[in-house]
Amino acid sequence: MKKSIKERLAILSDAAKYDASCASSGTTKRDSSTGGIGSTEGSGICHAYAPDGRCISLLKILMTNFCIYDCAYCINRSSSNVERARFTPEEVVWLTLEFYRRNYIEGLFLSSGIIRNSDYTMEQMVRIARDLRVTHVFRGYIHLKTIPEASAALIEEAGLYADRLSINIELPTDAGVEAFAPQKHPANIRRSMGELKDQIDAASEPTFRKRRKAFVPAGQSTQMIIGADQASDATILGTSANLYGSYALRRVYYSAFSPIPDASKHLPLIKPPLMREHRLYQADWLYRFYGFGIGEITAARPDGMLDLAIDPKLSWALANRDRFPVDINKADREMLLRVPGFGVKTVDAILAGRAHKRLGLDDLKRLKVSVKKVQPFVTAHAWTPVKLIDRSDLREMMMPKPQQLELL
Ligand code: SF4
Repeated sequence: MKKSIKERLAILSDAAKYDASCASSGTTKRDSSTGGIGSTEGSGICHAYAPDGRCISLLKILMTNFCIYDCAYCINRSSSNVERARFTPEEVVWLTLEFYRRNYIEGLFLSSGIIRNSDYTMEQMVRIARDLRVTHVFRGYIHLKTIPEASAALIEEAGLYADRLSINIELPTDAGVEAFAPQKHPANIRRSMGELKDQIDAASEPTFRKRRKAFVPAGQSTQMIIGADQASDATILGTSANLYGSYALRRVYYSAFSPIPDASKHLPLIKPPLMREHRLYQADWLYRFYGFGIGEITAARPDGMLDLAIDPKLSWALANRDRFPVDINKADREMLLRVPGFGVKTVDAILAGRAHKRLGLDDLKRLKVSVKKVQPFVTAHAWTPVKLIDRSDLREMMMPKPQQLELL
C-alpha cells in the first residue's frame, strides 16, 4: 500500500538529518512585496543558526532515500534495510508552499538519494527548484544538494534557481572516498566544484545590464563526513583550507559519522564524534575569521587531533603562553583576536573604545566579556595578571563546567 504523504514526510525528513547544512545567510534580500510569495528574511521555526548568527527555518527533506549507490557511511545506501520512500517533484513543491504559507519555514533544503541515474535524479531536483521559482514565484531560500556525477549543464541550471548549491566532498581524503564510496570519484567532485566556482565568478563579473541574472547568490558549500575514516583533525582542516582557497566555498559542513545499522559489515563501530564535530567548526572559524593557520591550530598535539576538553583558541593560547598577556590598550587587532574570550565584535569595540580612554576590566565586562576567562591573558588599565599565565593548573582553571553540548 502506498504510504501517505505524512508517512513519507516522516521518513524523508528523518533521513535528511544526516545532511549538515542549513544556512540562509549571505544570499540576496528578497521579499514578496512586489508579487510572489516567500522571503529570504524573517523568522519562523528555528532549525539551524546561520553563520551570521541568525536563526532560520528550512523544510529539510530528501526527495527520496532510495539510492543505487552503496556508500559505506550512509544509512540510505542500497544495501541498508531502512524503510524507503519517495516524493514526486510536484509533492515537494506542494509541501514547500504549504509549509511556507503556514509560516513553518523560510525555505527549502533538498537532498536526495540517487534513483535510476545521477542526471535523472538531478533533473527532478532542478524541476522542483524551477517550479518553485518560476511557476510559483517563490522567493524563499533554496539550498540544493547536487547529485554526485550529475552533468555540468544540470548543475548550472540548478544555480539559476537555488540560493546555495552543495557539492559534497564526502570524506577528508581521496583515499577515504575511494574506500568508502567507490562509486564516487574525487576528481569529478573537484571538477564540478571548479566549474561551479567559474560560473559563480562569471555571473558576478561587472555588466552594463541593469538587472543581472542571479546565480547561486549564497555561493557553494560542501559537506565532509568525519569519524568514518581515520583522518586526523589536522588532515580534515587542511582539506577544508584547500577547498576554501581553491573553490571560494562559503562553508564546509562537518557531519559526525553515526554508527548505523549493519555498519559493522563495512566499518568499525565508532562513537558519534559530536564534540569533535563541534571543535572542528570552532577551528574552521578560527581559520576563516581569526587569522589562525591550520598548522597553528593543530600543533598542540602530536597526533594532529584537537583537544576535545577545551576550545581550540584556548588550547593554542595555553600552548603559546609566551605570547601573553596582551595589553588591550596597545595590542594590534591580530593579537587581540587571539585572546581566548574575545570575538571579532569585542575586538572591534576595544579598538574603537581605546581611542577615547584607557580600557580596564570593567569596560570588558560592559562588552559582555567573561572577565574570568580573559583575566590571565590580558593586561588592562589597573590590571596586571601577576604570574597567572604561568600557573601549571591554568588549563584546569579554564576548563568549562560540564554542560549539554550546544551544536550549531
Ligand atoms: S549517494 Fe548519497 S544517498 Fe546514496 S549512498 Fe551515497 S551518500 Fe547515501
